[in-house]
Amino acid sequence: MTLEANDIFSRIWAVYDAGNLLTTCAWCGRVQLDGEWLVPPRAALDAIDEQNVLSHSICDGCAAHQSTADAAGVATTKS
Ligand SMILES: [Zn+2]
Repeated sequence: MTLEANDIFSRIWAVYDAGNLLTTCAWCGRVQLDGEWLVPPRAALDAIDEQNVLSHSICDGCAAHQSTADAAGVATTKS
């Protein structure tokens, strides 16, 4: 777990170092790294957040959850 957190931290930092925006999920706080949505260590997110390099988006998991909820909502409204 700790190794993985350090790995994510360094990958986040590499994106920041390259001058790129980090895409984060506005819902669950995951960050997109190389096409994967990963849960970042809180400290990494805080450190990056101060630099204003976050681009807020919705991750695949939350998007799927939302569309499922929408579908359920429509179904509920109709019935
Ligand atoms: Zn999410």
